[in-house]
Amino acid sequence: MIQSKLPNVGTTIFTVMSKLAAEYKAINLGQGFPGFPMDVKLGELVEKYIRKGFNQYAPMQGVAELRNVLSQKIERLYGHRYDPDAEITITAGGTQAIFTAITALVHEDDEVILFAPAYDCYAPAIELNGGKPVWVNLSYPEYKINWNDVRRLVNHKTKMIIINSPHNPSGTSMSADDMRELEKIVSGSNIFVLSDEVYEHIVFDSGQHQSVARFPFLAKQSFTVFSFGKTFHNTGWKMGYICGPAEMMVEFRKVHQFNVFSCNTPVQYALAEYMEDASKYLSLPEFYEAKRNCFLENIRESTFHVVPSSGTYFQLLGYSGLSDEKDTDVAIRLTREYGIASIPCSVFYPGNNDEKVLRFCFAKEDAELRRAGEILSSVRW
Ligand code: GLN
Repeated sequence: MIQSKLPNVGTTIFTVMSKLAAEYKAINLGQGFPGFPMDVKLGELVEKYIRKGFNQYAPMQGVAELRNVLSQKIERLYGHRYDPDAEITITAGGTQAIFTAITALVHEDDEVILFAPAYDCYAPAIELNGGKPVWVNLSYPEYKINWNDVRRLVNHKTKMIIINSPHNPSGTSMSADDMRELEKIVSGSNIFVLSDEVYEHIVFDSGQHQSVARFPFLAKQSFTVFSFGKTFHNTGWKMGYICGPAEMMVEFRKVHQFNVFSCNTPVQYALAEYMEDASKYLSLPEFYEAKRNCFLENIRESTFHVVPSSGTYFQLLGYSGLSDEKDTDVAIRLTREYGIASIPCSVFYPGNNDEKVLRFCFAKEDAELRRAGEILSSVRW
């Protein structure tokens, strides 16, 4: 009999819904991944570096060329310089960065404050390290943080606060005021911030991404996690990076070196060269805003409740005025009967709060978004 370390964890909802989508040949707007190819040029660069023989272990912290490009990018965009040698590490995706950061900092009985709905990898990482997730529930459609709620939960056991903006699954973003509130809470304390910013380049309506790197006092106590997969349409490469002050990064790397040691070498060289052209990531807001708008235009006639996403490649649709059914049931029924897979938002709450909201990924070809829109507009309950 195996004593499970995660007795309440099953298969992730993303896998469950993708499987169901395949079974029913449904349009898969569930699991978040681009439904169009990445730039051919990036693939060619990987080929180039493989041919040139860059096929052995990369340095544990990542290839220097790539860390340099990233340091410059962050400084240009957010005004904070991370030392490429001591403060940036290349990871096997955002999830590994998050797991390793939590493992490096969270001890037995430490408390970690996090906001629900939350992406599904945070809480298990806390629990596996003997920590205790302390939840603040946010509500559809604004998901606004009441910082006094956070203040009330802070105590001597609080080790970390995890934030995520632009936010998966809600598609909302934190404001500069939010960041200042957070900064006030952690300044002068021993609390670390883990900021999941994997959707940093997917912000809409001329909004500005509020990275912790824009807030000097916050940055001093924070890890910031980024993703190449979300930015360059290659989620299957599982490549990301993490930034943080040198003394925090020392601890991160102690764990990282025994976790993955180092990440894919030719891909790192390719990314470094590719990113010399900043337009490759600066064009993303416009690209995804057009996709969001295409999806929204095509569901104009639908009976779902819509608040346009302000970031990420996710759009929530509320159906509370239309049905009392559980969101998990509705998501399954939409897949089986209408051929559209989505993600029920209750799975992102510790208590499975059902606000009758579904998450749809619009990182898809326009034709597919139009088809999905037509179908969703035809749904009558
Ligand atoms: N980040 C993706 C999403 O939110 C899923 C990744 C995964 O399947 N674990 O849909």
